[in-house]
Amino acid sequence: MSLALRFLGVGNAQAVELGSAAAVLERDGRPLLLIDCGPEALTAYLDRYGALPPAIYITHAHMDHVGGLERAFYRSYFDASTRGRVRLYAHAALVPVLQARVADYPEVLAEGGANFWDGFHLIPLSRSFWHEGLRFEVFATRHHAPDTSFGLALRASFVWTGDTRPIPEMLSHYAASGETVAHDCGVVGNPSHTGLDDLAREYAPDLRRRLVLYHYGSEADAAVLAAAGYHVACRDEVLALRDPDPAVVVGAS
Ligand SMILES: [Zn+2]
Repeated sequence: MSLALRFLGVGNAQAVELGSAAAVLERDGRPLLLIDCGPEALTAYLDRYGALPPAIYITHAHMDHVGGLERAFYRSYFDASTRGRVRLYAHAALVPVLQARVADYPEVLAEGGANFWDGFHLIPLSRSFWHEGLRFEVFATRHHAPDTSFGLALRASFVWTGDTRPIPEMLSHYAASGETVAHDCGVVGNPSHTGLDDLAREYAPDLRRRLVLYHYGSEADAAVLAAAGYHVACRDEVLALRDPDPAVVVGAS
C-alpha cells in the first residue's frame, strides 16, 4: 500500500490565497478521502481530480471547512452516478451543527423533491470508522466549544489535527506510533489555534520532529515557522506516509 497526504490548502480562514485548510488521503495515487471541504478546497479538489471526492471527513463546521458542501450537494444530486454516494463522515456531535450550518436552507431545490442529505451518504461516527478497508480513529480537539471539532488518526501512518489549540493529551495516545502529525499552527496562537511558542512548551522533541504545520496566515508566516526548524506544508505538497498498523487494515489493498 502506498499512502500519501496531498495538501489542497494550508491557510487559515483569512488566508484565501493559501487555500482552505484541507488534504486528500491518496492510496496508490488515487483519492480515498477528502479531509474537510471549504470553498477553496472543493475548487482545488475538482481542478485536480475532475470529479467529486468519493468520501469526505469533516473535522468541524466553520465555513472554511464546510463551505463547499452546498456546491458538492448540487453537483452530487444532479449526477445519477454520484447522487447519495458521496460518503460524508462526521462525528455524531457534529450532525446537528452541520444541519444548522449547511443543510437547513428552506427547500434545497426550488422545484422541490430533494433533501440536502440526498446528495450524500451521511455516516455519523463516534470513536472510529472504517473506510475502504482502513480503520480511522477520531478524537476531540480544542477549538471553540467542547465537542465541536474532531481530529483524525490512522495508526502508525498519520494524524490530522484539524483546527486546535495544542492537544498533548490526545497526541500522546493517537500519535504514539511514529505517525506524521499534520498540525494547526500560526506564528501567534490564540484561543482557537496553536502558535509557534506553544509547540516547544507542549510537545516533546520526538513529536515536534514529526509535525507538519498548516493553517497559517501567509507565506511570510510560513517562513517564520520554517526558520524555527519545523516542516511547514505548502499548498499542493504531497507527503508520503508510512503504512498503517496492520491491526487497522482489512482486506487486500
Ligand atoms: Zn475552525
